[in-house]
Amino acid sequence: MNDFHYKQNTLFCEGVKISDIVSETGTPVYIYSKNAILSRFNDLRTAFQEVDTTICFSVKSNSNLSICKVLADAGSGFDVVSGGELFRALKAGGKPSKIVFAGVGKTDKEIRYALENDIFMFNAESIAEIEHINAVAGKMKKTAKVALRINPDIDAKTHAKTTTGKKENKFGIDLTVAETIIEKSKTYKNVNICGLHVHLGSPIYSVDPYVNALKKITVFIQKCRKAGMNIQYLNIGGGYCISYTGEEVIKPKDYSAKILPFVKEMQCQVITEPGRFIVGNSGILVTSVIYNKQNSHGKKFVICDAAMNDLLRPALYDAFHRIWPVKTNITMSDTETPGTGEVKKGMEVVDIVGPVCESSDVFAKDRAIPQVDEGDLLAIFSAGAYGFAMSSSYNSRPRPCEILVDKDKYFVIRKRETYEDLIAGEGLL
Ligand SMILES: *Cc1c(COP(=O)(O)O)cnc(C)c1O
Repeated sequence: MNDFHYKQNTLFCEGVKISDIVSETGTPVYIYSKNAILSRFNDLRTAFQEVDTTICFSVKSNSNLSICKVLADAGSGFDVVSGGELFRALKAGGKPSKIVFAGVGKTDKEIRYALENDIFMFNAESIAEIEHINAVAGKMKKTAKVALRINPDIDAKTHAKTTTGKKENKFGIDLTVAETIIEKSKTYKNVNICGLHVHLGSPIYSVDPYVNALKKITVFIQKCRKAGMNIQYLNIGGGYCISYTGEEVIKPKDYSAKILPFVKEMQCQVITEPGRFIVGNSGILVTSVIYNKQNSHGKKFVICDAAMNDLLRPALYDAFHRIWPVKTNITMSDTETPGTGEVKKGMEVVDIVGPVCESSDVFAKDRAIPQVDEGDLLAIFSAGAYGFAMSSSYNSRPRPCEILVDKDKYFVIRKRETYEDLIAGEGLL
């Protein structure tokens, strides 16, 4: 059963009524299902079990300590992209030997911090970075394990702002430059280049971009090995899609069925860095309706107490999120995209917006939802990835609290920010 489901016209997360949580916490509030997180993690683990695979949860998708701990306890590693994320992964109990560090702009300080903690490896994105890793490791008398993040120039057919593997993107090392690194690799005395990495963007709704990238990697790995480099690890990145609309999408085994033959051919251990797939549909954002507003042009707005500062994806990526009242006798269809589907009796077409002073503060445009009144609760689905993690206090709005549900219990895993939190660290001149 879906971990977020309606029973007697009211929304539950596992065994807990959403409205019971809200009566304690207020809104807006992020609510996550522990079971959903672990089920998705296990789905992926099962799909890749034929080969030696390390799953490194992408901390940037949801960096809450308790969420990371749930995954660390389940045996997950972590993919971090900053010193701050490394700090979180370690605090959550992440094993250093399962932490990989990506990102185009690692500073010497971050490199040193990672080496002090003996992380698994760096995913290096430029020659300059490899030289810095080599220098920092040299001073510390250590050898840093490095995977070359290859930019294979593949279009992952995702949003322009979330594609990372095309030649015009800042990410990775193109194959021509990578070949010059093969030549130089012996001169990096404190760097052991032992892996190759690709991450193409996100979410990717087809296996083809992975396959096309791996074809190029297969050729390149042979060149590396011919030159005497011992490439043991293949990091295939993240980017696995989830369903935002309720439509069926491809599943972990669809990815692994086409990816594993390459892995076997290359005889590598696999690292994969899922974020969205594990947490995306494992969390919702619950908000209250403040006002209904109608203009003279016939447009109706539902103004709610969550806004773009709490959930940025619609404003940043034109992302679609299903939105439905927490209490309603109208069923949310599992397959049709609400809003593009039928406007049933008791429903109306509205824009669902937040209070922030920006025209882009819109969660849904021309969306058909059941009529709602002031004080009613709305659930914004698929908000577990890149939701709270991207939140800010723009407009001096304290950030929401976060709740983790485990069967019939729930826990506050991050307190709601207060006005005092907003100014902490400022002081008056
Ligand atoms: C963001 C990111 C991921 C995770 O992407 P998802 O779509 O959330 O799976 C993995 N690897 C790298 C290098 C990333 O930057």
